[in-house]
Amino acid sequence: MSRSEVHIEESAVVSDKAEIGEGTRIWHFAQVRENALIGRNCNIGKGVYIDFDVRIGNNVKIQNLVSVYHGVVIEDYVFVGPHVVFTNDMYPRAFSGDSWKVYPTVVEKGASIGANSTIICGNTIGEYAMVGAGSVVTEDVPPYALVAGSPARIIHAVCRCGQPLDDSDVMEGKGVCGVCGHENEIPEEVRDAVRLRLNGGMRR
Ligand SMILES: [Zn+2]
Repeated sequence: MSRSEVHIEESAVVSDKAEIGEGTRIWHFAQVRENALIGRNCNIGKGVYIDFDVRIGNNVKIQNLVSVYHGVVIEDYVFVGPHVVFTNDMYPRAFSGDSWKVYPTVVEKGASIGANSTIICGNTIGEYAMVGAGSVVTEDVPPYALVAGSPARIIHAVCRCGQPLDDSDVMEGKGVCGVCGHENEIPEEVRDAVRLRLNGGMRR
C-alpha cells in the first residue's frame, strides 16, 4: 500500500494491514489496528484509537481521544467530537471469554456526535442526525433528529446544515431551514417526538 498521500505523525502507531485513503491525516499518538479501513480526506485526531476491522468512510472528522471499537461503521462526512466512546459489548464481564458477542453500531452519512458522548452498541445513528454533547445513546437515532441527555431523547429536528428547525414547521411536515433554506425530509418519528414534547413533557 502506498502511503505517500497520507500524513501520519511519527508518534502514531498504524498497522501495515490498515488501509488509509488519500489525503487523510493521522495525528499524534493515534493507533490504527489491523484491517481497519479509513477513507479519503479524513482527520484522525490526537490519541484516537481505531480498532481492528473498523470501517470509516470519506471526509470523516474524528476528534481527539475518541475510541472506535470493533463492530463500528462510520459513513461519509461524519463528525465525532472529542472523547466520544463507542461500546461493543452489551453484557461485559472481564471473565466472559469466548462468549463475547459484538453488536454492530452504524453512524450514517453526515451525522454528528457531540463531545464526550457514549454510543451504546447495536444502535444506528441516522443520516444528518445530531447527538448533543455528553449524551448517552441507548437506542436508534432517526435521521435528522437532534437528541440529548442520558438516555438520549429527541428534542428537535435538525437541518442538513446542523441548525435546529422550527418546531411548528416540523409538525406541519415542513423541514425548510430558516438559516440555509435547505428543504429536509423529516421522518414521522421525529415529528411525533417534537409534537409530544410540545404537548407537555419529554418523551420517555
Ligand atoms: Zn440549514
